[in-house]
Amino acid sequence: MNTLFDLSGKVAIVTGCNTGLGQGMAVALAQAGCHIVGVNRSDSSDTRERVQSNGQSYLEVRVDLGDTKVIDSILKATLDKFGRVDVLVNNAGIIRRNDAVDFTEADWDAVMDLNSKSLFFLSQAVAKQFISQGEGGKIINIASMLSFQGGIRVPSYTASKSAVLGLTRLMANEWAKYGICTNAIAPGYMATNNTEALQQDESRNREILGRIPAGRWGTPQDMAGACIFLASDAANYVNGHTLAVDGGWLAR
Ligand code: NAD
Repeated sequence: MNTLFDLSGKVAIVTGCNTGLGQGMAVALAQAGCHIVGVNRSDSSDTRERVQSNGQSYLEVRVDLGDTKVIDSILKATLDKFGRVDVLVNNAGIIRRNDAVDFTEADWDAVMDLNSKSLFFLSQAVAKQFISQGEGGKIINIASMLSFQGGIRVPSYTASKSAVLGLTRLMANEWAKYGICTNAIAPGYMATNNTEALQQDESRNREILGRIPAGRWGTPQDMAGACIFLASDAANYVNGHTLAVDGGWLAR
């Protein structure tokens, strides 16, 4: 039982971990024993300090994941430093809000390119590495309530996160035979930069809180248990599942 959730010596790539949910998961994985490769477009020294204070190594790879051309450099930097990879957390994501009738192609492409396209091609690159290592691996995609629901004023976000749920199943179907477990976490309404506008909008905030059975917004720390579980041997026979961490939102 003690070793089931032990990630000592594993190497985890976490995208978008300088803040928010990605930071919460990077720190949680470090506390469980992982070295962390943080893939960020801006400075992640706060995460570095938190990872190192748990006794683990931290490698920053500074790239913009809006462009798939950077993916080879992420793998190269990881292998140069650690020689292997065990876990990929596809967390980096953006949202653009506008009425569907006014929504622009630029807001469509920016969100789809990061949230779906880069997620797929980074997973592909890491899966190839997992296959060559021959010991399986864990891919954890960050989905959303809008993988299950339609949402409002966020067409490209809904499309991208619905794609994340489908791709999680597809990757599981193709790669489970290599011992690669691909799953997703669907966070509910979490207090981060991503939801700042909603938290500030008094009436939307009231509506949202009124529907969450737990009666509060989630926090980056609320992601820890699900993330460690899906990264660990405890989840070796869990494939293609999207696990809601939502304070009960979907149960309503
Ligand atoms: P956040 O805005 O605090 O964090 C997003 C992260 O992605 C940041 O680290 C940011 O630097 C990184 N990022 C953005 N664009 C990037 C790019 N082009 N290249 C590299 N990194 C980039 O938001 P968050 O709430 O922590 O979101 C994390 C993930 O969780 C996202 O995929 C988001 O869609 C998802 N999510 C959040 C909520 C929520 O309520 N906050 C709910 C469901 C899903």
